[in-house]
Amino acid sequence: MATKYIFFTGGVVSSVGKGVTAAAIGRLLKERGFKVAAQKLDPYINVDPGTMSPYQHGEVYVLDDGAETDLDLGHYERFIDTSLSRVCNFTTGQVYAEVISKERHGDYLGGTIQVIPHITNEIKRRITQVAKATGAEIVLVEIGGTVGDIESLPFLESLRQLRKDVGRENCVFIHVTWLPYIGATEELKTKPTQHSVSELRSIGISPDVIVARSDYAVEEELIDKIALFCDVDRRAVIPMVTTDVLYEVPLLLEKLKIGNYLLEKLGLEARQTPDWTEWEKLVSDVRRKKPVVRVALVGKYVELHDAYMSVREAIVHAALHLGVEVEIGWVHSSDLEKGKEWTMVREAHGVLVPGGFGSRGTEGKIQAIRYARETRIPYLGLCLGMQLMVVELARAIYRDDSINSTEFDGATPHAVIDLMPDQKVVADMGGTMRLGLYPCDLLAGSAAGKAYGCDRIEERHRHRFELNNAYREVLAQAGMLFSGVSPDNRLVEISEIAGHPFMVGTQFHPEFLSRPNRPHPLFLGFMKAVCEQAGVCVS
Ligand code: GLN
Repeated sequence: MATKYIFFTGGVVSSVGKGVTAAAIGRLLKERGFKVAAQKLDPYINVDPGTMSPYQHGEVYVLDDGAETDLDLGHYERFIDTSLSRVCNFTTGQVYAEVISKERHGDYLGGTIQVIPHITNEIKRRITQVAKATGAEIVLVEIGGTVGDIESLPFLESLRQLRKDVGRENCVFIHVTWLPYIGATEELKTKPTQHSVSELRSIGISPDVIVARSDYAVEEELIDKIALFCDVDRRAVIPMVTTDVLYEVPLLLEKLKIGNYLLEKLGLEARQTPDWTEWEKLVSDVRRKKPVVRVALVGKYVELHDAYMSVREAIVHAALHLGVEVEIGWVHSSDLEKGKEWTMVREAHGVLVPGGFGSRGTEGKIQAIRYARETRIPYLGLCLGMQLMVVELARAIYRDDSINSTEFDGATPHAVIDLMPDQKVVADMGGTMRLGLYPCDLLAGSAAGKAYGCDRIEERHRHRFELNNAYREVLAQAGMLFSGVSPDNRLVEISEIAGHPFMVGTQFHPEFLSRPNRPHPLFLGFMKAVCEQAGVCVS
């Protein structure tokens, strides 16, 4: 069968859940027996989000193959339950870099390089690559930003051309918009949606489906109105009312019958009946009243929860599995340095320090780690959270608070965390970390070994620094266990404090492999210890 494409554009405003909608629709199609992949097109000039501040962009999501991608890829992987490839995310920066390098190479000798056709051809090549790389039958393509942005024009033009190249019968355009609510008159407005559709039309794209996002119930007349003014089928207007449960989105879309409508549009027939039992259970578990446990997430970008999207989801997946409600206390690590926000840490049943870069707030994280070790509160450290756990113990061993990672102090008396040898020759900052899946051997009987219940695992990485092997012995004597190491034993992947109820740090990022119906073993281990700390019985 010819590859089918579903394109997602955004209208009115951004941040209305276009990525989640695309991800959930991917699940709807997978449930009908199709192999689905999803791709995000980002109109910014950076080559990837790896060099951007999380404040700008939210978390950087890392794939198996080491691609540093947009956080929407996290939604795709979690909802569709698949592992995506680096072809599933590209930016304007990558497109231009490719075209310019070809130009320098002489590939277009004699030609003038232009947006149309050179840039648009490169965009189309990258879109059509997905089916080849992933074997997907249906490819969902989400365009970042909203229609009307200057940056996204070449992308939209490429979609218009692609529709002609692959045949209209193989494409569906879904436009995701927002219905603002006017308090004074107590009504939802469709005018911005109409405007964004006419903007889309002016560049030659007529949407087939309108997903109208709203915080309020959308009345029938309004649906009629959108269908009429935006020239789409009545059935193709999907009123998506905001839900408090993220994982309810596929169920809501199923009820709105968009799955069957899309197949019809693409000339396909469902190969199987969707089975939503697991998802229904998940959603009813979320809604059920459960005992509450508290986790303090001590980080640098806590004002923006999106910066820790996968970490938060992984905590929630494990908590749901254990039948508890988790309250996450978002603690700014630099506040701890000023003696503030400690109540949130003290009242928590577990402390988690996620990944991070740069020195701001690291001392506060170290103080939180010391607190967790000394008071025997469950602790999970991810990447930087593991490195600082090592720094904290080394400071206690040598009674020297100037000990640090060389990332933060090149002149530290004991470089317990140091740049990896192969990083010492790296000059460029973009895409040069140790990235993606690497194997790790587990120590039987350790907390990590018990949590995973196997000998070898593979996890996703994103780091430049590592535990300095010269300090393994001294750390081990002080009670640190190296419960996960690379198969050649050269790199410590997991450290833990022996005899502590649960104090585990990982050099990798387990949060990227947690799925709603399949919580990650380490998060599960951590959350079990958290429940125990809270006095909540779990099976
Ligand atoms: N900054 C640390 C490093 O580069 C930790 C990275 C991370 O937490 N992802 O090794």
